Amino acid sequence: MFKGILIEKDEAGYRTSLTDLDEGRLPDGDVTVRVSHSTLNYKDALAITGKGPVVRRFPMVPGIDLTGTVEHSTHPDYEVGDAVILNGWGVGETHWGGLAQKARLNGNWLVPLPRQFTPQQAMAIGTAGYTAMLCVLALERYGVKPEHGEILVTGAAGGVGSVATAVLTRLGFTVVAVSGRPAETEYLKSLGAVEMLDRATFATPGKPLGKERWAGAVDVVGSHTLANVCATTKYRGIVAACGLAGGMDLPATVAPFILRGVTLAGIDSVMCPRRERLEAWRRLGSDLDVSKLATISKEVGLTDVLPLASKLLNGEVRGRVVVDVN
Ligand code: NDP
Repeated sequence: MFKGILIEKDEAGYRTSLTDLDEGRLPDGDVTVRVSHSTLNYKDALAITGKGPVVRRFPMVPGIDLTGTVEHSTHPDYEVGDAVILNGWGVGETHWGGLAQKARLNGNWLVPLPRQFTPQQAMAIGTAGYTAMLCVLALERYGVKPEHGEILVTGAAGGVGSVATAVLTRLGFTVVAVSGRPAETEYLKSLGAVEMLDRATFATPGKPLGKERWAGAVDVVGSHTLANVCATTKYRGIVAACGLAGGMDLPATVAPFILRGVTLAGIDSVMCPRRERLEAWRRLGSDLDVSKLATISKEVGLTDVLPLASKLLNGEVRGRVVVDVN
């Protein structure tokens, strides 16, 4: 038996509990992992609260991230005792996830724990941090360089935004943070942001084109914010869009794209090919100041996860949440 969070949906309704689970209930897979840590991402909070259609099979153990040690493996790349991490691939959505003390997985989904990080640090990064790195890689792929000007990061005090701010700063970019939390100004400055803008100024309908300011942007908010970010991005700038914290819609015009050559780069972490994942984790190993992770993250236990999920959706959680599942 092992402990885990279980989401059930039946005639009694949608409900989530911390419970004892039998190992025989684990799904099929060629690697069994003794989980040490998981995380609480925005998507996990949607799954746990039932506020978003994240879970597509019930009952489900949520948790799109995990790290731990291989306990059993018939996969050629993994042996008992190997330290591994997992992000995405539908884990916590269609396949039992990381918010439990054990997981059984497809070995092709796993990535070796990068040697630069402890298990806690890898989960302080988690899907949010790895997605932030995918956004940075997109900016680089399209040729954005520090000398081109300021980079805007929206939802900056959240998980993706915090890691994006820290990594971009370390790479020499000038980061301007958008946040709804003035109380986090010092926090964002400690990660490297040079200025903080109130998210309210981005959240309402704006003009098709505004004054050109950003050489690039990382957006986790979507909706009017993403439209306004595109409208104020400089000629041939890049906007990496990965989130919907402010809404799934995109009430924009094509003006920034056809008149300023702005590129909207979509970022998905879930099905991202293994080669790019490995590259993102390699770059996190070299371009994220690990000393910042203690500021960015806090650690909780499995019993804390349910109340924290609602707080996270209300935008009341700063940075990243690491869950010690034991
Ligand atoms: P967090 O909850 O940690 O951060 C989201 C931040 O967005 C909040 O901290 C807040 O920042 C801001 N925010 C929240 N609500 C609103 C709102 N209504 N309007 C404007 N800003 C708001 O989540 P994550 O960082 O983990 O994820 C951010 C987004 O990215 C989510 O939508 C998530 O689903 C998505 N995501 C997508 C991935 C992908 O593969 N495409 C992978 C990972 C995440 P502040 O307080 O500073 O304003």
